[in-house]
This record gives sequence, structure tokens and C-alpha cells, in this order.
Amino acid sequence: MIQEAKKILKKVFGYDEFRSLQAGIIQNVLSKKDTLVVMPTGSGKSLCYQIPALLFNGLTVVVSPLISLMKDQVGQMRELAIPTVVLNSSLSYEEYIHNVDRVRRNDAKLLYVAPETLLKPRILDMLSSIPVDCITIDEAHCISEWGHDFRPEYRELAEVRKRFPQAVCIALTATATPRVRQDIKGSLQIPFDQTGEFIDSFDRPNLYIHIVPKQDPTNQVMRFLNKFKDQSGIIYCFTRRQVDELSRVLAEQGFSVRPYHAGMSEEERRQNQELFIRDDVQIIVATIAFGMGINKSNVRFVVHYDLPKNIESYYQEIGRAGRDGLKAYCLLLLGYGDINKVKYFINQKEDENEKRVANIHLNALLRFAETDECRRVPLLDYFGEKYAREKCNMCDNCLRQDKELIDISVSAQKFLACVKKTREIFGANHIIDVLRGSKSQKVGKFNHQHLSTYGIGKDLSRKQWFLLSRQFIQKGLLVQDQEYGSLKLTPKGYEVLSGKETVRGILRAEEVREPAVSKSKRGKEISQEYDRELFEILRRQRKELADRYNLPPYVIFSDRSLIDMAARLPRTGESFLEIHGVGAAKLEKYGSIFLHLIDRYCQEQQIDE
Ligand code: ADP
Ligand code: ZN
Repeated sequence: MIQEAKKILKKVFGYDEFRSLQAGIIQNVLSKKDTLVVMPTGSGKSLCYQIPALLFNGLTVVVSPLISLMKDQVGQMRELAIPTVVLNSSLSYEEYIHNVDRVRRNDAKLLYVAPETLLKPRILDMLSSIPVDCITIDEAHCISEWGHDFRPEYRELAEVRKRFPQAVCIALTATATPRVRQDIKGSLQIPFDQTGEFIDSFDRPNLYIHIVPKQDPTNQVMRFLNKFKDQSGIIYCFTRRQVDELSRVLAEQGFSVRPYHAGMSEEERRQNQELFIRDDVQIIVATIAFGMGINKSNVRFVVHYDLPKNIESYYQEIGRAGRDGLKAYCLLLLGYGDINKVKYFINQKEDENEKRVANIHLNALLRFAETDECRRVPLLDYFGEKYAREKCNMCDNCLRQDKELIDISVSAQKFLACVKKTREIFGANHIIDVLRGSKSQKVGKFNHQHLSTYGIGKDLSRKQWFLLSRQFIQKGLLVQDQEYGSLKLTPKGYEVLSGKETVRGILRAEEVREPAVSKSKRGKEISQEYDRELFEILRRQRKELADRYNLPPYVIFSDRSLIDMAARLPRTGESFLEIHGVGAAKLEKYGSIFLHLIDRYCQEQQIDE
């Protein structure tokens, strides 16, 4: 069976190998064992039910919560010539009847359906009259009240499941804590045993993660964007006002950009999203309202202009980049004013429990943002996973030269002494005031201007002290009270204070480091060299076809496929089939157009076969 599956992988989808867990999952589904799949975005979950669907005689029903996701999937299936039908509330009456009829006539391998549509008695009756081999529950975390996106209709899917005892059930999601996993299994009433559960690492190795101090954010962003000519990306801001402001400034500077936030009309939002998906607009500046249901595979960067809400949303937001597996860049501007703003909001909260949870979230986020070890360590740790390697070489910390870590023992001693002298009941802001000799009211009120540590830290700026204080916490010299933010020395802190131990850390200068993005004519991504000029030619052709067929460009060919063409320069149908993501349907539909372009380019450049 798995041999058959592998043939389909190549012939229909144009891929040579299964990715990590895919083969096992497909094997499991094909032997009609219920399966739970937890894999990160972009890891290829869809294939896990699409390939079995092609091998089963009967229908595969796919329950999906979002119309935009369904539309995207169906578009992709049609491009691969897989008979696919969709049923949801966005269809006209004629379309709806036509599609129901196709299902009834067994003229479809896959049926994408919204949960509320599936629950309609007429639809259920109709499905009972035909063979159904598989029920797929996409975005399965929607079943759980503990997930971030609970949908009540998902709860009722258990009943649906009972009506089709001969069908295997596969539930898929990209986000599921153990609690949510349990819920999915429980509410679908499926006896998942260990062998039916496939949980992949949360790591996304192709995302380059970097965090820089926020200093001159607009210019920082523009310098960053200049490295991504014609490439797609998202910039997240905290407020609608910031979104409007930033997108206006960027547009004035000639960037191809549109805003997106909940304050805009639905029509305007839909339009801007569509422009982005179709590569008509390069950049979206958005609040977190943007992104759900975006399947665009060639998002090359995600910028966080402001501090994200928590690690989970950060992870989800950067997860929208690089779904095609090619390198993508995630930049976070870490403003210490932003951190204080969030702290201020947290302190305004009335509910003590809410306050506590918010503080825990913020501290986890800061631990990640301020670490000087590999960023994947705290990031994955948050999701309960231990990063298997020490260095990823795909984050700023891993690429930082070791020499940037300097001896900061003296600064640490000053700070720790000041914490102790003020009796360990104040937070970093007040300590810094004392160190820098501030004349603030609070200093006067406690008579701290008479302390021996008053004014001994004028050599460093407030910001530098603040970043140092975060490192002292990070390195376990100080502990911070979760609720009040007051700092206390730890045994390790005393060791440093008494000079028995030294500390190394980062003392940030004021200038900003940015990642190098290769700009040479010969691009190199995922260790594949390709001809950028030809890539551009192919990209323009893809765009033209996409507009003609009313499809997003990445549905025709992914960036990865175009890069592969620009690297291997196929000249025959046979070699075109070797290209990543090219199967029989794509060859027939687009082969001659692209082969012609490649051929002409090679002749012009006098490149031999
Ligand atoms: P997910 O649903 O997990 O977010 P998708 O199913 O959308 O991810 O897959 C992401 C991309 O990876 C798609 O373009 C898909 O065609 C591609 N892909 C999936 N499986 C493979 C594979 N075995 N080899 C190469 N590419 C693959
Ligand atoms: Zn790293």
C-alpha cells in the first residue's frame, strides 16, 4: 500500500520523498486506524489525508472551519486534477446543488465541508447513501474549549462519526497542548492508542529568528524591507493606529503595502488580503487580526514592530512565514518602552488571577526575547519540548560572535549591591533610578540619595541598565516577584556580589545588527544555487497565469518549484517532471509554457543542456 502512496506522491504531487511522519501516518490511515496528527504549520499535514483519499474507493470528507482555507485547498486540488468538491454557505444555490449532485454521483474523491453544513440532516442522509471511507477533521483543536479557537459545532462531530462506522477518522492540528490533545481524543470518542498518535517537533528549522532592540523602528523596518525586494511579508503592530501610520509612511516611501485591521470595512480587508495573496501587494501591515486562514506559502518575512502578546501568538505569527520550506526571516523589535507599557496594563488589571496569568505570559516571552542562548531552546521549551541540539545556527544568538559576550561582573556588582541596600523590595526601574542618581520623588521619599550606591551607575544609559537587569534575572543572579516585580538576590547573586564568581553577558551598544540576506545574482537558499534572473522571468510568467486563471500564484507553482527550475534548467518534459512539486497534471497544464521560457533563456545566455 505504501508503495502505491509513494507513486502518487511523485506522480500527482511531484515530490520525491515523504517528510518525517507522513509515511507512517498514511500507512495508519490506509489500514483504517484512527489517527491524530499534531504537526507544525507547513509541515505537510494535508498530504496525510489527500493521498489516502486517492487510494480509497469511497469518499473522503474533510471538515474545515474556515471558508478561505477550504477555497485555497480546493484550488490546489483542482490544479492537481484531483476531483474535489466543496460545500459551505458561501456557494450560490446553483453551485450548491451542482456540488451535492457530484458527490451523489461518486464524482469526487474529496469533499471539503464546513461543520455546520455537514451537520445538516439532508447532507448527512445524502452521505449515508454513498460509500465514505475517511472522515478528516482539519484544525481539530477547534473541538477543545482549551484550544485558542473553540468552535461549538465541532463538538457535534462525534455524532457524525458514529453514522459512518466503516470510515476511518483522522484529526489534524498544528497547535495542541497535551490537554487539547486529550480533549480531541475524548470528544471524537475515538480510541486512539499510542500508535495512532503522531506528534512532530514544533521546530520550524527554516525560520531565521532575530530580535533587535527597538530604537528607530520606522527606519529599522525600512532598512530591513530593502533587503526583500518583491518578496512577500507581514508586519505586525499592536494597535490599529500604528498599522495605519506605518503603512502610510511605507507607502509614501514607495513600498508596495496595504493595511489590515479589525477597524476597516470587511470589503476593504478582503480586498487587501486578496491583493497580498495574489502577489499584487508585497507587504501587509496588520494587527493580529490578520493571518487566520492564510495559506500563502511564499511569505518570506514576518516583522513584529511591537511586542507580541505572548509566546503562543508569536509562534503562530512567525509560523505564517516560510511554509514552502525555504528560508524565511522573523524580526522582532524589542522596545523596552513596550515592555513597560505591557507591565502597566497588567498592573491595571483588577482580577488577581488574570494579573498572575498575564505576568507569567509576559515573563515567558521576555525569557525568550532576552536570552543569549539559542532562541529555539526557550521557544520549544514553552511547548513542552526539549530542543535536541545546542545550537540551531538559524537565530541571532547562534550567529553572534562569542566575543560579543563581555565580562559584566562590575556592573552586576553595582546593581546587586543597590538591590541589597534598598532591602530587596524594589523593581528594576527604581534600582536604575538610584544607580543613575535620579532626583525622582520616589528616591527622595525613601531617602535613597544617601545610599553609597546612589549615582554610581551614571556610566550607562537607562536602557543599557534595563537590558543588563534582564540578563541578571535570566542568569539567575536575581529573582523577580511575579506579582510586584521586586528583585531579590539569589545565592548565585551573592557569589557574584562578593567577587567569587564572574558574569559574562551582552552590553548593547546603540547600533543595530541586522541579518545578511544574500543579494548576489546567484541566490542560495536551502543550499540550492539558482539563477535569479531566470527565477524572475518564471515568476512573472506564474503571475500572469495566476491572474488569467484567477488563482493565487503559489497554487500554480511554489517558490520552491520555480527555484528548482532556475537551478536545474530542465529542457524536456521528462526532466520537468523531476522538478520539486511537478506531477502529471502540472506538466500537462504548464509544462510547455515554462519549458519554452527556460529554453529561450538558456539559448540567450548560451547555456548548454
Ligand atoms: P500544513 O497543512 O501542515 O500547514 P501543507 O499541507 O499546506 O502544510 O504543506 C505545506 C507545503 O509542503 C505544501 O506546499 C505541500 O505541497 C508541501 N509538501 C507536503 N509534503 C511534502 C513532501 N513530502 N515533499 C515536499 N513538499 C511537501
Ligand atoms: Zn539558535
